[in-house]
Amino acid sequence: MTETTASTKPKKTKRASQAAAGAVESEISLPPAHDWRTTDQDEINRRRLRAREGSFVIRNADARFPVFSNFSVGSGSGLTYTVEIRSVAERQFACTCQDFRKNGLGTCKHVEAVLLHRKRASNASSRGPLRTVRRG
Ligand SMILES: [Zn+2]
Repeated sequence: MTETTASTKPKKTKRASQAAAGAVESEISLPPAHDWRTTDQDEINRRRLRAREGSFVIRNADARFPVFSNFSVGSGSGLTYTVEIRSVAERQFACTCQDFRKNGLGTCKHVEAVLLHRKRASNASSRGPLRTVRRG
C-alpha cells in the first residue's frame, strides 16, 4: 500500500484583497473570526426588508445637517423614534427603539428606513419625485 504523502499544504488563496491589511498571512490562513457576521448580516437584511416594506414618516430634525443628523421616524404603529446617524461609512447609528437596544447589531428597521430615505432622496433629485410616503 502506498501512502500518499500528506502534503496537503493549504494553498494560499490569493484573493484580490480589497481592504485586507495583507500583513497577517505568515501562518495558516484561516478566515478571521468574522464568521459571526454572516448571521448578523442576515439579521440586518431582515431589518432592511422591514424598512423597505414598512411605511415610515421620516423627518430630519435638523435640516442644516442633511446627512449626519437626528431623524424622527414615525412607524406604522404610531410611535415615533429618534434615529441618530453618526457615521454612514462606519455604520455608527443609534435609535431609541427596543430592538436597537437589544439586538446588538447597531442598526434596526428605523435606522435602515432613514438610510433608504436618504438614498431615495438623492435619487429623487435627479429623477423627480416618483414616490410619495405612505402613511400607515
Ligand atoms: Zn429603531
